Amino acid sequence: MSRQRLGLPRSQRSQGTFRGGYSPANTKPKHGSYISSDRFINKAEPVETAEVFIPRHKFADFPFDERLHRNIVAKGYEIPTPIQDEAIVPVMAGRDLIGLANTGTGKTAAFLLPIINRFLVERQGLALIVVPTRELANQIDEEFKGFARGLNLYSALLVGGASMGAQINALQRRPQFVIGTPGRIKDLINQGRLRLQTTSVLVLDEADRMVDMGFIRDIRFIIGQLPEKRQSLCLSATMTPEIERLVNELQINPIKVSVRTSETSDHVEQNIIKAVSRDHKTQILRELLGQPEFSKVLIFGDTKYGVQRLADNLAKDGIKTAAIHGNKSQPQRQRALEAFKKEQVQVLVATDVAARGLDIPNVTHVINYDQPKTYDDYVHRIGRTGRAGARGNALTFVQG
Ligand code: AMP
Repeated sequence: MSRQRLGLPRSQRSQGTFRGGYSPANTKPKHGSYISSDRFINKAEPVETAEVFIPRHKFADFPFDERLHRNIVAKGYEIPTPIQDEAIVPVMAGRDLIGLANTGTGKTAAFLLPIINRFLVERQGLALIVVPTRELANQIDEEFKGFARGLNLYSALLVGGASMGAQINALQRRPQFVIGTPGRIKDLINQGRLRLQTTSVLVLDEADRMVDMGFIRDIRFIIGQLPEKRQSLCLSATMTPEIERLVNELQINPIKVSVRTSETSDHVEQNIIKAVSRDHKTQILRELLGQPEFSKVLIFGDTKYGVQRLADNLAKDGIKTAAIHGNKSQPQRQRALEAFKKEQVQVLVATDVAARGLDIPNVTHVINYDQPKTYDDYVHRIGRTGRAGARGNALTFVQG
């Protein structure tokens, strides 16, 4: 792989920054929070070496209600992904689930489809789906709406940064599905607007992210409101001791499905770009964004302010740019995301928190304008490119 193909600016091409032999270790950085820049370099494995997955089922084999089958066909799903293949049957049988799976594995349908089917059969109860971010809640709600079309099943989306009034109205319509972020769910419980006594299914999605983001107390509070007799599904990209404790308290004899794939590092060509200052970084960035292969670029910055400033600067240069960070309202975040997904803008500049769990197809490049704080964050960031077996590119600025 030549540096030419990576599209590095001319000034970087002679510096020998590319090195092979990267070991995809996922251990903590060696020097406190500093991550050795060697770890931002990886020669992508050829995509063809990916293991071929042979599913045991087709969607048509699952004993779903006919109407649900029709909606699945309408969404174009035929072959289950590995987590769907393994989890759908036991979850339909009422088992608790630990799913070790990251975004892009099809985990959402793996839990939504059996739950939707359960509601078609039982016609009572409540499904509570708790997730770390507003965007992920939105994504799950969209997926739910596709599968539940015409089935008389409804959802309420309870997320921060959006009007409480509209959410309270949605709850008054007695939805069977409540999808939300921990803080807003807790607020609505405290206001007496959300009662969880009838909850028959709990889903914790991206449980490790929720713990990382400091939501563990809110989650424990929410779990405390639930009846003992219920089904509990826990999805997490990693199994940390804290998640293990949570799962032990939460679940009875769960089935464990692990599909954590190498969607991230292996298929992503990773390299570093040396820059001496912020101005220098922005100058290199402009040069990169002028190259035609940089057509859908996700850039990570570490502060809300820095992300907005960079987005404003790029926009001033005539580069179509959107930004997504915690200071934006929910509708603004949603609009920015849609514009990027639909390729109406070339660049999305984001903070880690805002970009967690997003499913954005065909991102050509992830650029770490600021370095991530942990290696785990790095792997998560670069997982936004090279999805679904496609090849991706990740570039990280280092001081040099
Ligand atoms: P997720 O990991 O749940 O965020 O899903 C990632 C993407 O894959 C979403 O756009 C889903 O709509 C899509 N997807 C999930 N399962 C399937 C499937 N069996 N067939 C086709 N597309 C799927």
